[in-house]
Amino acid sequence: MSDSDGKKTLGVRGPGAGRPGNVKQSFSHGRTKNVVVETKRKRVVVPKPGGAKPSVTGSPQVGDPTKRPAGISDAELDRRMKALKAAKAQEEADAVRRADEEKKRAEDRERRRAESEAKEREEKEREESLRQKAEDEARKKREEEEVKARASAAAAAPGEPAVSAPSSPRSAPKPSAAPRKDRDDNDRNKKNQREDSRRSGKLTVNQALTGGEGGRQRSMAAMKRKQERARQKAMGGNVEREKVVRDVKLPEAIMVSELANRMSERVADVVKSLMQNGLMVTQTQTIDADTAELIIEEFGHNVVRVSDSDVEDVITPQEDDEGDLKDRPPVITVMGHVDHGKTSVLDAIRNARVVAGEAGGITQHIGAYQVEQGGNKLTFLDTPGHAAFTSMRARGAHVTDIVVLVVAADDAVMPQTIEAINHAKAADVPMIVAINKIDKPAADPDKVRTDLLQHEVIVEKMSGEVQDVEVSATEGTGLDQLLESISLQAEILELKANPDRAAVGAVIEAQLDVGRGPVATVLVQNGTLRQGDIFVVGEQYGKVRALINDQGDRVKEAGPSVPVEVLGLNGTPEAGDVLNVVETEAQAREIAEYREKAAKDKRAAAGAATTLEQLMAKAKDDENVTEMPILVKADVQGSAEAINQAMEKIGNDEVRVRVLHSGVGAITESDIGLAEASGAPVFGFNVRANASARNTANQKGIEIRYYSVIYDLVDDVKAAASGLLSNAIKENFIGYATIKEVFKVTGVGKVAGCLVTEGVARRSAGVRLLRDNTVIHEGTLKTLKRFKDEVAEVQSGQECGMAFEAYDDIRPDDVIEIFEREEVERNLD
Ligand code: GDP
Repeated sequence: MSDSDGKKTLGVRGPGAGRPGNVKQSFSHGRTKNVVVETKRKRVVVPKPGGAKPSVTGSPQVGDPTKRPAGISDAELDRRMKALKAAKAQEEADAVRRADEEKKRAEDRERRRAESEAKEREEKEREESLRQKAEDEARKKREEEEVKARASAAAAAPGEPAVSAPSSPRSAPKPSAAPRKDRDDNDRNKKNQREDSRRSGKLTVNQALTGGEGGRQRSMAAMKRKQERARQKAMGGNVEREKVVRDVKLPEAIMVSELANRMSERVADVVKSLMQNGLMVTQTQTIDADTAELIIEEFGHNVVRVSDSDVEDVITPQEDDEGDLKDRPPVITVMGHVDHGKTSVLDAIRNARVVAGEAGGITQHIGAYQVEQGGNKLTFLDTPGHAAFTSMRARGAHVTDIVVLVVAADDAVMPQTIEAINHAKAADVPMIVAINKIDKPAADPDKVRTDLLQHEVIVEKMSGEVQDVEVSATEGTGLDQLLESISLQAEILELKANPDRAAVGAVIEAQLDVGRGPVATVLVQNGTLRQGDIFVVGEQYGKVRALINDQGDRVKEAGPSVPVEVLGLNGTPEAGDVLNVVETEAQAREIAEYREKAAKDKRAAAGAATTLEQLMAKAKDDENVTEMPILVKADVQGSAEAINQAMEKIGNDEVRVRVLHSGVGAITESDIGLAEASGAPVFGFNVRANASARNTANQKGIEIRYYSVIYDLVDDVKAAASGLLSNAIKENFIGYATIKEVFKVTGVGKVAGCLVTEGVARRSAGVRLLRDNTVIHEGTLKTLKRFKDEVAEVQSGQECGMAFEAYDDIRPDDVIEIFEREEVERNLD
């Protein structure tokens, strides 16, 4: 365009000539293009004098002299032309000067910018390489040198074009074009605009496919980013900007996303890094600590290994300030020999003192209750029996502050009395002796006192320190004194707790309620438990959905020493489990899961033997066997507790029986699962395995033993534990029958119309009546009939009539178990 002098370039003739303007060009497909047309100049510089015309130049916009004014002479024209030329020359000189100045300024600006940019970049690179050096120094010295070398190379390379590139296109203008510089620039700008507007227009298929146009549409920022990336690449490796070295806590296993989170790195980068290490994982997968450690090091962070058990750290007890502590009611457990009146004493106190909601004497039993005594409250654990006490203690729940030892005045000190004394002493809990049944004519309270002396319990009446109170639970005498003694003892103990902290409590009882789900009675020991609190309890966790007090009322909160029923658990905890309120559900879940896993591992580590015989053989082979795991299921809590107690006593220095689990109800698949995991046999006391449990047990080779006499069970376990199983009576189940109908037959009593479902029913065999997999009767058959005939045997799949000897509480759907006993010789060698 700069060579347009005296020559025609793009021009328009016709009506549009002599005026700058836009001409619209039409192309195919409806595309159009605007062309700016400059025409004036061309006309003016026509050298032919004849046609030449003076004109007002300098302003490209004014370009109208198309005609020579009439009546003008040649001389005049010449003069005018000269003047015009002079003016033009002057103007051109000015324009050149201005252009030069402008150009210089632009160049200056450009240079300064480039310089400062280059400087900045160099600075940054230097910093980076320094940091890089510091980071890598310890690890890879050699590599670091390489990186540095590359870094400096990269610093030089992209720097140069940055300085020269922007100035080059403009720094070489053709001198000849100087007078037209303005216009040229103008033209160029316009053209650029046109090009730009075209670019931002429609995108053809071709453009899209080749990516040409799309590529050019990238923003400046994108280009810069691309350059930056390229530069970083040139510097080598995954150089991180503004790298912060973190201490990454690493548990024994960690989810990929959590690992990324802890390192504050992008998950995608972590996954990529894992893949580079040959591990195809997704962000939700869990990787082991060793792998995670590699990755953490790769990202340049520090590894801080933590153990799984650290999750429990959030519930480590913090000491309360003296000032925060307030008095709390004492928690009392009643202990004593069976039938000495524990339950009666508890009931008497409760009935005498619990006033609210006493209509008809029905109050909700939640395992504990509170009574008032002289303005103070006393909390009684309503679970008499030593097992509860010891199991809680064993689980770390030191719940009881005071033990009330009930001894019947007409009976004196008995084995379980002694046991209770020992428990109380072992737990270092003060005792108060309640000498019960003083209403009885045979009552001899002083005999009780002297008896107790033998067991180092010196009551006040014998000048000792242990308080003693004479009571009668049935008559209600002495109860006030007993409560006063308890209050006095509590005062001495100065029991305190801080109600203004996250609650800690102990499970007294727990069960799966059909309507309400898992329910636990919790005795709050410290802090205050509130509705909505998130907690972990044993291997379970939850959020308090509702709190119900011992009166059966819903309450919003429960402070220290208050027993409440807690709803909102995810599973049923066990008595003695400790409840801790934590801040987040994630914490609660994490702790519960950790505990569950730890318990499972422990059970799994208990050994692989599954039958008593195997266990015993193992005990014989292996001198180091210290624990013999067993599972106990019983018909009632009392039996389960009695068995547990008996099991605790079995064992010597080498072998100890460990009851992994004891519960009430039929043996279920989950029991079998637990037994399998820990290699323990399952003992059913008056309960049976349900069908699926039986099948699983058969498949897995888990031994299930049924008993109906505690001593038999204890003897067998004892024998197994000592490795000296004597000849024993073994029961073989030969058949099962289901009762379809019950008839009354005069002279015979109730007769069950049955279907033999398994094996064979035999007249001579022993029978048990099972209702809901629980044994409710054991005995022999009076009759076994098939179609009116008395028979010796009935096979599986056949119907028959059966009647029990001296027992007729039979119902449809009851199951009759038919068994025979045989003596087996146990020979181990
Ligand atoms: P536990 O096994 O220790 O709970 O004893 P219980 O509370 O079940 O009582 C056993 C028996 O002793 C029951 O028959 C009660 O009626 C009876 N009993 C309890 N306390 C007294 C009492 O103070 N006087 C009399 N005469 N009998 C009592």
